Amino acid sequence: MIESLVRKNILALKPYSCARDEFKGRAAHVFLDANESAYNAPYNRYPDPMQEKLKQSISVVKEVPVEKIFLGNGSDEAIDLVYRIFCEPRVDNVVAIEPTYGMYKVCADINDVEYRTVCLSDEYVMSAEALLQACDEHTKVIWICSPNNPTGNDMDRLELKKILTEFTGVVVVDEAYGDFSDLTPMRKYLGYFPRMIVLNTFSKAWASAGIRLGMAFASEEIISLFNKVKYPYNVNMLTQHAAQELLSQMLKLERWINDVRHERKNMLPCLMELPMVEKVYPSSANFVLVKVTDADAIYSYLVDKGIIVRNRSRVALCRNALRITIGSKEENNELLGALRSYGMKTM
Ligand code: PMP
Repeated sequence: MIESLVRKNILALKPYSCARDEFKGRAAHVFLDANESAYNAPYNRYPDPMQEKLKQSISVVKEVPVEKIFLGNGSDEAIDLVYRIFCEPRVDNVVAIEPTYGMYKVCADINDVEYRTVCLSDEYVMSAEALLQACDEHTKVIWICSPNNPTGNDMDRLELKKILTEFTGVVVVDEAYGDFSDLTPMRKYLGYFPRMIVLNTFSKAWASAGIRLGMAFASEEIISLFNKVKYPYNVNMLTQHAAQELLSQMLKLERWINDVRHERKNMLPCLMELPMVEKVYPSSANFVLVKVTDADAIYSYLVDKGIIVRNRSRVALCRNALRITIGSKEENNELLGALRSYGMKTM
């Protein structure tokens, strides 16, 4: 049962009940229950606290029932909620692969929860055994990002399955970049793993980082806990509308994803033949990690040309590595052009 993993204060919590939770009928036309203004429609009204219409649309696209969907202010909100629901500050701990997405640690630090790391191999391969070894009786959560940021590769499915079957706590599989991978999305296996939470986002393949909308898919029990702890109106009306609008154009989204995958394929050989590139790591994401001769110098050179990539040189196992997002064909060509001139300058 999931209850044994939940903080006692959260189990006992009586959540805030907002006006829009209490009255749900459609027949009413005079709303004097929420101290809203009568002016400036439609923004005078609070948004739907449970985002029901939007969840119905997402349910169709992602093939996950509405009751198993949580929507938040970016997936970063879901990451923070995982700590607040499951991890007792200064008592519990979490385990994560290293290197990985930085917010798992930031949220651990904010919530005063011990953050344990297990390094990937030099080729960025994950060991389930090593992750399980790092756990003790206070480990509540294991964080797995796949495709992983910043390395770009998929975590091995057999290793992931071992963690999901053997770990008795919550396993969060962050598939923010999953749409760019060939692997089956982990949300399809929710029924097999009742303690798995899968994160998706509108910020990457769905090209909507600006609207701040993240998704968590999990058992009904876990989703009820998210709903209990979240701010009442955590997804604003403008975001809900923009997301609905986007979901009515699924063909466009699929084209964007295909374009990124196509550009990624084209970029790899071009990057590999550059003199300053020592290695291009395989990527299932919308970025590639590239090991170069001198990341700091190349990063500064690109900044001078008005091109910003991410210097990951100071991250574990990423010495001299630049993380390069796949942009439009024009942007990618500009980057390659700049790198080619750098190559000539140093030859
Ligand atoms: N997970 C991963 C792996 C990410 O790289 C990011 C953002 N870079 C996020 C989650 C956060 O995404 P959102 O914009 O949905 O908060």
